[in-house]
Amino acid sequence: MSDPFVVVGADAAGLSAASKFRREAPDREVVVFEKGRWISYAYCGMPYFVAGYVDRMSNLLSLSPSEVDERGIDLRRDREVVAVDPDAKRVTVETADGDRFEQAYGDLLVATGARATTGPFDVRGVDGAFTLHDMDAAAAIDAYVAEPDAYDPARADVSAVDRERVDRNAAMPAPETVAVVGGGYVGVEVAEALAERGLSVHVFHRSGHLLSPFGETVGNRVEAALEAEGVTVHTDAPVEALVGDDRIEAVEIGGGTDGASPERTAVDMAVVGVGIRPNTDLLDGTGFDRGPGDAIRVDDHGRTSLPDVYAAGDCATARHAVTGEPDWTPLGLTANRAGRAVGATVAGDPTPVGDIAGTAAVKAFDTEAARVGIVDPEEAEAAGFDPVSETVTAGSRSGYYPGAAETDVTLVADRDTGRLLGGSIAGTDRAAIRIDTLATAVEADMTVPEVERLDLAYAPPFSPVWDPILVAAKVLNGKLDD
Ligand SMILES: Cc1cc2nc3c(=O)[nH]c(=O)nc-3n(C[C@H](O)[C@H](O)[C@H](O)COP(=O)(O)OP(=O)(O)OC[C@H]3O[C@@H](n4cnc5c(N)ncnc54)[C@H](O)[C@@H]3O)c2cc1C
Repeated sequence: MSDPFVVVGADAAGLSAASKFRREAPDREVVVFEKGRWISYAYCGMPYFVAGYVDRMSNLLSLSPSEVDERGIDLRRDREVVAVDPDAKRVTVETADGDRFEQAYGDLLVATGARATTGPFDVRGVDGAFTLHDMDAAAAIDAYVAEPDAYDPARADVSAVDRERVDRNAAMPAPETVAVVGGGYVGVEVAEALAERGLSVHVFHRSGHLLSPFGETVGNRVEAALEAEGVTVHTDAPVEALVGDDRIEAVEIGGGTDGASPERTAVDMAVVGVGIRPNTDLLDGTGFDRGPGDAIRVDDHGRTSLPDVYAAGDCATARHAVTGEPDWTPLGLTANRAGRAVGATVAGDPTPVGDIAGTAAVKAFDTEAARVGIVDPEEAEAAGFDPVSETVTAGSRSGYYPGAAETDVTLVADRDTGRLLGGSIAGTDRAAIRIDTLATAVEADMTVPEVERLDLAYAPPFSPVWDPILVAAKVLNGKLDD
């Protein structure tokens, strides 16, 4: 038997690859190393678990270890791959006890994901300060937020959970005020979740509007939606420090440079969501090529610059559908799709991992927001385009039909070619899912006149005669003709 297909990481990208490979190459061994106890989980569901919309943590799991085993995948948990020797085609694996061993591979997939960065803050060792980038953090936040005598331990109903951490947090007095540091999509979701749990929520965002990659129109609308539910949003407010020795006591903004005193907001909880970094340490010293975000640079089949070494998911780049250049936009479908493609390729059926367009959606209470492609005109210019954009507000259904709501659509196009570069949508009536029309148009390299001529569905309960996207295309077309 040839050396196995070795996969590092047992979540979206890793298990998608292993499962596809297992089906396509039933005679070849596949080994998956996972450094933790958790496998096949839905990070994306964590904010909704914290909010209480999801009752049990087990609902966020897809495959159990025994189901992975039944698929014929050799899953080894508590095994961290700490080094790769691409010449000898071996990885060094460390067990939870610190023992090390080597494993040979025929092909290797690095599907190690990313980890939360905390900027200048060290949240470790400070009670009440968290990042939300692993399942144990979600369980700990959920326990911390509850009154000690009201916490239901059955919510964290998964054997992999760090029970000691959960119990410690459950025993602490419930917080009243939280600082959500960072107004990206995770920050917005966490703000909603903690407001739902009854906390007084402050969101601090470094720049002038929330959800920077979604554009100003969306950011402002989401800010208004949060404020309407009692969340206080601070924009242009980079948090400089978390204050508190054992337990978080306050966050500080500004101060320092011009001698002004920093502004303090007293809090008894902080959730820091200021960014993530790809996990690439295991490849240190191999000379692998990096791409944007310091992620592992891969080709259109997920191959790294090292022979027989692939990378997929949050640790890897992907080609941007608009620019054609490597890009790093770590999201769930990208990871699942690239993992599956690599599994097929290694099994002998070369399969492209697919381009990405940065398609993303988020909600703040009843307001939905979504974006695709290039929304920021400066980013479009940097990519060599001459951007022209237009924002319209249009009805989501025929005006006389119950439920019709104002929907904001922004479209960005290249003046020279008329090509649609990207767009964003916000509204309260099924606004987010409309982004898929734009995502399809962006990926198909459609021009704005072509978008305007799309035969989209019309019936009063679903859309007006002119869907908000068609209205936006019509208006932008007029501008392109000027
Ligand atoms: C709060 C939150 C909400 C999100 N919401 C959305 C959403 O709504 N939509 C969306 O598209 N995306 C969302 N995402 C992003 C999405 O969850 C990720 O894109 C996806 O999980 C990436 O999958 P992955 O397999 O690449 O990495 P991961 O899911 O991070 O899995 C990597 C695995 O590798 C393991 N590992 C790391 N290093 C090693 C090593 N050296 N040896 C062995 N094992 C190792 C890790 O323990 C981990 O289990 C969200 C993320 C978060 C944190």
